[in-house]
Amino acid sequence: MITLNHYHHFIVKWARSLKAVLLDADGKTVIKDVSMPILQAGEVLMEMKACGLCGTDIEKMHGQYAASLPIIGHEAVGVVAEIADKIEGLRLGDRVFPHHHVPCYGCYFCRHGSETMCSHYRATNLDPGGFSEYFRVPAWNINHGGVLKIPEPISFEEASFIEPTACCIRNLKRCQVSKGDTVLIVGAGPIGLIHLMLLKLQGADTIVTDVSSKRLRFAEKLGAQHAISPLETDVTKEVREETKGRGVDLAIVASGNPQAIVQALSSVRKGGKVCLFGVPVKGSYLNYDFSDIFNSEVSIVSSNAATETETKEALKLLEEQRFKPAPLIAKFKLSQFHKAVEAAEKQECIKPVIVP
Ligand SMILES: [Zn+2]
Ligand SMILES: [Zn+2]
Repeated sequence: MITLNHYHHFIVKWARSLKAVLLDADGKTVIKDVSMPILQAGEVLMEMKACGLCGTDIEKMHGQYAASLPIIGHEAVGVVAEIADKIEGLRLGDRVFPHHHVPCYGCYFCRHGSETMCSHYRATNLDPGGFSEYFRVPAWNINHGGVLKIPEPISFEEASFIEPTACCIRNLKRCQVSKGDTVLIVGAGPIGLIHLMLLKLQGADTIVTDVSSKRLRFAEKLGAQHAISPLETDVTKEVREETKGRGVDLAIVASGNPQAIVQALSSVRKGGKVCLFGVPVKGSYLNYDFSDIFNSEVSIVSSNAATETETKEALKLLEEQRFKPAPLIAKFKLSQFHKAVEAAEKQECIKPVIVP
């Protein structure tokens, strides 16, 4: 019997090329016809169904991102279209999230809670990237538990939030947020808003700041206790007023702007934490009197990416509908990729999600 999956399999086998958005040497993105990746043993070919556009993708386009190779598109989900050999637990047609980076879980860094600093973590990636009609998932990522199945009620667009949400979950763990804490979120872009939604689940109070009044109103709709614009208000003063003069327990910098870091440092309480989450532009220096940090016993926390512990937690939150990212999503076709980037840069939408 020829099943739909078999039929699909033939189409994939005979298609010689696919459309993909790639980064050229000048950092420009181009929609190109490239040849179908050739699978090695233990690898799968995925048909992309949705892939979120991340701030780091845009930074890579501007040549400002230094943490990994300039492959764009890492918030991809889709359907298993071809399998080389047999892979335990994976079948053609499965709806899956493949993590683009997966640690070894055995080295010194992995055993000491720094899994995303593992030398294997960034060694493999989706090929040619997530903004591609089809892409290859390396055997390493599959063998090390990087592929999760997406239960039916979760849409592909929602599932594309597994990766960024996992990064925020890991960050909040590292910041050790407690119920009843007051948290300042500097920057109400997608990352700031995901943090806001997660903090609400944890019973924390949130104050959000952003220069865009549209984004501030959106943050209020999502449950922010206070939304303030640094263009209209002295953020630090307002934060102190809202916290009986103390300052916030935690300030999350969800923006790459060095000025946002200064704002966070001056809004945090004695003994509080400042978390650097937004990726600063390479070569960012801060003009700040560091004696303040010691005198006020302020801790600086940073968090980079996520592991399978958190991707599973993000998936569970989506499945239980405790985390609902639908209001953040703006869908764009792969052929409209440049439009999606423009919309993100001009802040015409919150989170562009690319679909085939
Ligand atoms: Zn991302
Ligand atoms: Zn490791």
